[in-house]
Amino acid sequence: MPLERSAKAVGSLLNQSLIIVSNRLPVSVKKGDDGRMEVFPSVGGLATGLSSYTKNADNKWIGWPGIPSNDLTEDEKRFISEELRQHNCYPVFLTQDQLNDFYNGYSNSILWPLFHDLPVTEAAIRERDRFWNAYQQVNRLFLEVILALSGPEDAVWIHDYQLMTLPDMLRQARQLVNIGFFLHIPFPAAQNFADHLKWGADLVAGLLGADLVGFHVHSYMDNFMAAVESYGMGTIDKDNARITLPDRIVQVAEFPIGIDYKRYMRASKDPAVLQELARLKEMFPTQKVILTVDRLDPSKGLVERAAAYQTLLQEYPNFHGKVTLMMLVVPSRTEIEAYKNLKSRLEELVEDINKTFGNESWTPVVYMYKSLPFERLNALYQLADVAFIAPWRDGMNLVAKEYLASKPNKDGVLVLSKTAGAAEELTDAVIVDPARPETLVSGLVRALKMPAEEFRRRAGSMQQQIQNADIHNWANSFINALHSTADNQEGGAHTLGLTGRQAAKLNRRFGAASSQLVLLDYDCVIAPLTPAGMEGLPAELHEILKELSVQADIVIVSGQTQSLLEEKLGGFDNITLVAEHGLFERLPGEKSWKSYRGTDWQAKVLEHLEKFTEKVQGAELEKKDCSLVWHYDKASSYDAQNAVLELKRVIGPLAGVWKLDVLQGSMFLEVRPKGRSKGSTAKEMAARNQYDFVLVVGDDSDDCSLFVDGDWPEEAVTVKVGPGRTGARLRVFRPEEVLGLLRSFKASGSVLAVSA
Ligand code: UDP
Repeated sequence: MPLERSAKAVGSLLNQSLIIVSNRLPVSVKKGDDGRMEVFPSVGGLATGLSSYTKNADNKWIGWPGIPSNDLTEDEKRFISEELRQHNCYPVFLTQDQLNDFYNGYSNSILWPLFHDLPVTEAAIRERDRFWNAYQQVNRLFLEVILALSGPEDAVWIHDYQLMTLPDMLRQARQLVNIGFFLHIPFPAAQNFADHLKWGADLVAGLLGADLVGFHVHSYMDNFMAAVESYGMGTIDKDNARITLPDRIVQVAEFPIGIDYKRYMRASKDPAVLQELARLKEMFPTQKVILTVDRLDPSKGLVERAAAYQTLLQEYPNFHGKVTLMMLVVPSRTEIEAYKNLKSRLEELVEDINKTFGNESWTPVVYMYKSLPFERLNALYQLADVAFIAPWRDGMNLVAKEYLASKPNKDGVLVLSKTAGAAEELTDAVIVDPARPETLVSGLVRALKMPAEEFRRRAGSMQQQIQNADIHNWANSFINALHSTADNQEGGAHTLGLTGRQAAKLNRRFGAASSQLVLLDYDCVIAPLTPAGMEGLPAELHEILKELSVQADIVIVSGQTQSLLEEKLGGFDNITLVAEHGLFERLPGEKSWKSYRGTDWQAKVLEHLEKFTEKVQGAELEKKDCSLVWHYDKASSYDAQNAVLELKRVIGPLAGVWKLDVLQGSMFLEVRPKGRSKGSTAKEMAARNQYDFVLVVGDDSDDCSLFVDGDWPEEAVTVKVGPGRTGARLRVFRPEEVLGLLRSFKASGSVLAVSA
């Protein structure tokens, strides 16, 4: 295989990409009546907040594309994958059965109610074992797609309650990946969690696989940390919101989600919105409009809100004919029995109110069971005198923020439950308690009678709050926090940038030591990567290594083949060369290479890899002396993704028999004998001598084994080249900096040689 190929694989590791993972993609696919596929990008808050990241083709969004895979042929799946790829989206295909049990079942019939402090139905409890199995199975499918499409150094941001076991699954598969998780719904009180949730411990352990776990508000963070404590899973530092695990630290933080404030403010000047507003104003020329906007969901307390309005009309006849309750109810989870029952109850009550109080010129409740487009919804926000938002429990509630942001004249009153996350920010709302229905009624009365001066002041201060913490701010804060947790690991040690002062200190230590070991990775550490591929060693480095090797033990380790290292470094007699990640070794003074494993297994595995290389257009097979690498960076993501899953399935049993490792890197799958790694080489080097100076420099995530497995003395200096997490103590960003460090060693080495 040409050198350029390996260089590309290694080079791609230098760029840390962001992988976003959510149950639904921000782009949905539908099959029209004529059988043609249609792709719809969504303009939802999350997609807006992340848009500056998702435009970058290095970043990827993984999720379900909104269509069950039973209805799709292989060609259609390939078509969908290619279409989605243009939006940097990558599908996880799920069957209807998986969707029933994982999504409608475990996620929405068990987790959703429990996390909103609502009862779980008997029917759901009866089926929970099957639901749970499907939940884990689907989380594992997401894992497979993440592994197939990302590199070991990427940052992965996982979203929401459908994927709570995924962070730990990913952590088990890739120790050093940088994982963030954000929960978009509340986290319940520990007692509620432990008493009602059979697999609570598994879910909490799942989240602890992340480096950063984010919630909307502080109380959810506290509840989560209390749950961790109750299961004895880690030591809690409440002041710093950190959980210390035996091997890692998990940061917990609050990130209240915001909205695209400017879009809502701008809408007040949009002609389409103004036209709709004029139409609505004609319908309600004198009445005050109370608005509710919600999905039809048990957590939203819609029946209770209609009942509060009914009580208002009973107790305050003065309002008859002067107010209208507009209920915009969006269909949701219509397959679930509890949702169907709720719809009947709500509609019966609305009918009853209209029959009891309505007359020819006044309909007390205008009920709409549909979803409205942005312009029509915005006109409703502008029209409404009062937004009546009283959910039983709500993670945040964006409608509350959208309503206020749509009021350029600040002419609206927000009535808000204290149990909505938004209430922790929007403290100038009229706060009500859904557990005390009388507060809903008094809240409405207060809102309807509030003087203009007061509601303008309140709306103004809340608008300021919403503007300052908008959706872009939310996404950036989370991603910045996620990156800054990346180094916060490996026994708590940070990887710090190498300062000039530290370099000078190292230089002095090197010069003063009587036995030195310098262990260097090859690609991108001493051999720079250029657009043309991997270069050989710079001439100056050649000279430096030659001189240093007179007094220090120098080891160069690489994933490259023996022949490549021979070609590039063969002239050094005093240097130990290690090829193919430790499978081959050439000691100083030796001409021949020592091999650590036979290759009897290769023919068997090759058969499969060749078959898939033929089948998947763009895939390439690299045959190294002792390992086989299947590259798929030039293949269609759909074909590659399927092939990786299938290859792992067929090679798995062979790997067991022949004692092989199947390693997945950034767009490649490598099969190699078990046990040998850069880490095992490092261990042997460390044991070879009592060195009093050790320098280890590596770049890709595989090099963490160099840093961590080496059993190096306490004062050993480990240096990572480039971003990402490896457990190294120091960081530089370019091979030129490694060259500079070695140059300074050469100078101090000469001083030593002269003075000796
Ligand atoms: N929404 C919409 N069309 C409608 C009604 C609502 O697009 O006809 C949107 C609304 O703008 C808001 C979202 O649905 O962004 C509801 O979010 P919220 O946080 O209030 O509740 P959730 O549905 O997430 O529980």
